[in-house]
Formats: sequence, structure tokens, C-alpha cells
Amino acid sequence: MKQLSIRIAELASACMLCHDAPCAAACPKGLSPDRFVRSVRFANGEGALAQMTGCVGCGACERACIRPDGATKILALKALAEQAYPAAPAPKADLTTQMCGVPCENPLGKISCHPNIHTIIPDLVRFTLDARHQDPVVVRQCIDIIKKIPSEVEKCAFSYEEAWSRATVAFHKPYVDFVEESAKELGYPSMRMYSGPGHDAQFAADIVPTTMIFVPSGGGHSHCELEHTPVENCKKGADVLLNTVLKIDAAV
Ligand code: SF4
Ligand code: SF4
Repeated sequence: MKQLSIRIAELASACMLCHDAPCAAACPKGLSPDRFVRSVRFANGEGALAQMTGCVGCGACERACIRPDGATKILALKALAEQAYPAAPAPKADLTTQMCGVPCENPLGKISCHPNIHTIIPDLVRFTLDARHQDPVVVRQCIDIIKKIPSEVEKCAFSYEEAWSRATVAFHKPYVDFVEESAKELGYPSMRMYSGPGHDAQFAADIVPTTMIFVPSGGGHSHCELEHTPVENCKKGADVLLNTVLKIDAAV
């Protein structure tokens, strides 16, 4: 298995990670062999193979590869990846969860324990819980649940601290309306959404009326190597932005 991993890493490292990859442009099935190689390189084996679903093994991608010292061996890499990675498709990501019955969004966390050895019961475990929800009442409910945990459970001492928090930011409603109206006037589908991650706009909102426009990425992937936003979607986003700015200009 170790040899297989080394060979996979070796083949994947040959790729130059081209922008507008010629290997992808050559694929008669419209697949993204470039993203397949990239995903392998970044250790996303299951995601990598998903990029090659429907591959007929024609080799057009390899023939189109512009790597100067010889084409990236995409098909050999695919064959090795099929051996190395489980065949089952990756489960669909669901970032919602419940904390003692309280629904949360995007729960993230970090766990560290001491000693971190699989045969030894740790004497210290620290973990963080990132409780996110657009409704501050729900976040408060999560904190209240933690506060109610006894300070000692089954001879394990327990303590907590609130490390960091931030208030939910509601963007300037008239400007949010302008974004929605602009999309509608241009004939683009749109939806209002909440966004859990941090954005510069949430701080700008303290100073100026603010709104945001998101454009859809393929498969909903974001902040990972699979993320890809088609140019057409970016153009639509720019159209909406321009019309929104014109509406704001007319309103002020
Ligand atoms: S071998 Fe597969 S990925 Fe490569 S061009 Fe042919 S169908 Fe596309
Ligand atoms: S396989 Fe070849 S063409 Fe495709 S991204 Fe890698 S170097 Fe570029």
C-alpha cells in the first residue's frame, strides 16, 4: 500500500496544474482530468475519482497534455487511484447537526488530548465547539446547554470558557432588495441566503450600508480544491453587481 501511495504521488506530482487545462479541453466526455489529478495531489482520493465518472479511457487528455517532459500519465494514475481509494462515493456533506436538540449550522471544532496515544486513556481533553446560527437565540441556547454541564461527571473534571463570539450581521435591507431586484430584472434565478463564514463585508457593515452577492460554484464546493465557478456565473454576478450599484446610485 505504501508503494502504491508513493507511485500515486509520483504520477500526480508530474502535473503542472495548468489554468484552462488542455487535458480537460480535449476530453470528449466533458470531464475534468486536470481536477482529477489535482484532487489526487491534495489527497482527496474519493473526490478525485468522482471527477472521472464516465471516463471511457480514450486517452485524449494525455495526448493533449502540454507538460514539456512528457504527458502526465492520467490513465495510469486513475488505475492506481481505483486500487487505492474506496469505490463507494463520498457521502454527501451535511454540515447541520443538533446539540442536545438545538439545531446548529456549520458546527466546526478542534480536539486535542494528552497523551494522544491510541492505547492510553487521556488525562486531558480539550475541544472547541463552533456554534453557528443566524438566530442569536439559538447560539445562546447552545451556550446555556454547556453551562448546565456539571463541573464533574464520573470523576472527570469539566470546565469551559467562551473563547470568541461575534454578533450576527444583518445586511442593509434596501440594498439586499436591490440585489434581488437586479437578478430578477436580468432573468437570473436567485435566492436569499445566510452565510456562516467570516467576510470582510460583515465588518464594513459597521461603517457603511452593505450587502453581498454570491454566485454558485459547481457542486456547491467552496474553499477546497474542487471549487470551480464557471465564468458565466461570474459574469452574471458582475451584471447583478453593476445593476445594484446603479440602483444604489439612483437612490442616494
Ligand atoms: S481518458 Fe477519460 S478523462 Fe481522458 S479524455 Fe478520455 S474520457 Fe476524458
Ligand atoms: S495533466 Fe497536463 S495538461 Fe492537464 S493540467 Fe496537468 S500538466 Fe496541464
